[in-house]
Amino acid sequence: MNDVLRQPISEIKGVGEKFQEQLQDLGLYTIEDLLFYFPFRYDSYETKPLTELAQDEKATMEGQVVSEPVLSFFGKKKSRLTFTLQVEQFAVKAVMFNRAFAKKQLNPGDTVTVTGKWDQRRLQITVSQFKKGEAKSQEPIQPVYTLKEGVTLQRLRKIIKSAIDEYGEEITELLPEDVQRTYKLPERPKALKQMHYPESRVLLKHAKRRFIYEEFLLFQLKMQLLRKHHRESTSGNAQSYDNNRLTKFVQTLPFELTGAQKRSLAEILKDMKQPHRMNRLLQGDVGSGKTAVAAIALYASITAGKQGALMVPTEILAEQHYQSLYKMFEGRANVALLTGSIKGKRRKEILDAVAQDEVDILIGTHALIQDEVLFNDLGFVIVDEQHRFGVKQRRTLRDKGLHPDVLFMTATPIPRTLAITAFGDMDVSVIDEMPAGRKPVETYWVKGEMTNRVLSFIQKEVDAGHQAYVICPLIEESDKLDIQNAVDLYHQLASVFEPDVPVGLMHGRLHNDEKEEVMQQFARNETKVLVSTTVVEVGVNVPNATVMVIYDAERFGLSQLHQLRGRVGRGDDQAYCILLADPKGDVGKERMRIMTETTDGFELSEQDLKLRGPGDFFGRKQSGMPEFKVGDMVHDYRALETARKDAAEMIMDDLLESDERYRALKEAVYADQSLTGNVLD
Ligand code: ADP
Ligand code: MG
Repeated sequence: MNDVLRQPISEIKGVGEKFQEQLQDLGLYTIEDLLFYFPFRYDSYETKPLTELAQDEKATMEGQVVSEPVLSFFGKKKSRLTFTLQVEQFAVKAVMFNRAFAKKQLNPGDTVTVTGKWDQRRLQITVSQFKKGEAKSQEPIQPVYTLKEGVTLQRLRKIIKSAIDEYGEEITELLPEDVQRTYKLPERPKALKQMHYPESRVLLKHAKRRFIYEEFLLFQLKMQLLRKHHRESTSGNAQSYDNNRLTKFVQTLPFELTGAQKRSLAEILKDMKQPHRMNRLLQGDVGSGKTAVAAIALYASITAGKQGALMVPTEILAEQHYQSLYKMFEGRANVALLTGSIKGKRRKEILDAVAQDEVDILIGTHALIQDEVLFNDLGFVIVDEQHRFGVKQRRTLRDKGLHPDVLFMTATPIPRTLAITAFGDMDVSVIDEMPAGRKPVETYWVKGEMTNRVLSFIQKEVDAGHQAYVICPLIEESDKLDIQNAVDLYHQLASVFEPDVPVGLMHGRLHNDEKEEVMQQFARNETKVLVSTTVVEVGVNVPNATVMVIYDAERFGLSQLHQLRGRVGRGDDQAYCILLADPKGDVGKERMRIMTETTDGFELSEQDLKLRGPGDFFGRKQSGMPEFKVGDMVHDYRALETARKDAAEMIMDDLLESDERYRALKEAVYADQSLTGNVLD
């Protein structure tokens, strides 16, 4: 790295105090920041044949003025100038607003080049810029930067241009020569100029390719080094579990583990035995048997004399996990439940028991990370539906033990594309196989007008002894409306079904004990139809429910639809998912189509990613997805994959440490502050 480039922006001619502050608002402090502030798009003044232009495209065209410009005034100070321009064999109508002065400059017979918004249907261009003369003499591709109030595009362009002219040559190469040669990447200083002022589309493409690779490679190196560091560090517990007891325990389970479960379990147990701290993500579709694997791992930890904790996002889920683990561990381990609604004397008893090592496994919600919760010796931590917790919350729980092993679980299958970046510093186990005998949920997409037939289908299934979920429309950003909707739909369905078929209602505003009661009634088969908002999304198990109806399904993302669908199909009977939807756009239709065609969560998540882009994928920022400046994880997936492989090889061969040619790269890896490292940790 270069000290010259580390100088403040004020070193550049023409940057005064005020401008410096404005640039700082854009996150630009040093000359280097400015040089690497890349355009988010380019205005191209290259001309194209008219027939190749799209409706509303910003276009540049050269033509001859063939009519005397007509000027008209409207409003207070507004004007419109119109004239006809002969472009190729077409007569194009040019319209220019509020530039009355141009009338004098434009005369029939003149050649002009105009830029503006193209209306293909009316052969009309709304001109934003014009110059006399041929198109060739114009500067072809102009950078467009993200701006903040007070900074104009012209001003920013100018200052970046002078930064390039003055300091562009100070930029040093990061990539070793052979890497550059392998991928035919342009040199760094040259590529940087092309990023701002490309001489052609082709040169721009190569410059971008270079910086995308560089960005991904730095990221991958950093992540993989962190992971390696993790592995080699001995600040963890080597948990020496009792293999005999563990095997006996597994034999008491009412089923044989699937191959994928066995494989994941072996990976987890291997981590536990190592002296380093486990940092592993267990991924698997709803119902693939993650909880079973987690329970076995928890038991292993107990046989090693440690305590374990399982944190889940909702009380209902905590309760359900508690019930099933309590049964599973009966006579083998003490399991306790801690949630917000456990209060007073009972709470104190539990806390005391946890502190005195009388509780082996504590299951709960956010309640687990309160200060009052003290473990005697917490050795194993599991966080279920990890993306529902913030980074801080996950860390707080972890810090309740002395380097406990940590297992994250998620039923949101994460596309491979994202997993290798988002979890670059985590180990990942995947359960990609369902327990034998599960029948895939049959999924249908029907239009809103068919609602009555859907209701008779529910009646039919209920007559056969089964139960149904009905999920209400989701109204974005409004809890209140969501609940109103649920209440309305509940009354509507109750009037159809009751009294023969009892209907229940579930939504987020109910008190916890009310929710509990509603859920229990459904689980006990006392209510047959459960109208609900998406609060049932996570985890609760009612195997007798065979129908999942989702109203306005087009409003949900694929992953969420898939989660909801996962509530049914947990028993032996054939289950159905019915998507009521009238999607307007292509994306919505595509989503419905995909849902009806696959029940494979990983495939769905890949498709979801394509339709929505990585930013939206988890629906919230705290997911810790890295943000790239130049590269795009989805679009540039191949480059990401290449960078990942290259980084792995460089680390394996220890090139950063031992090869002089990798020195600049090494320095960049260690200097880069923008890479936050442990994204999920
Ligand atoms: P997840 O946590 O991935 O949603 P669970 O562990 O809760 O899945 O398992 C879902 C259901 O399948 C539970 O009723 C569980 O007892 C059962 N189950 C788990 N593993 C197996 C298996 N290998 N064979 C049969 N049933 C299984
Ligand atoms: Mg689960």
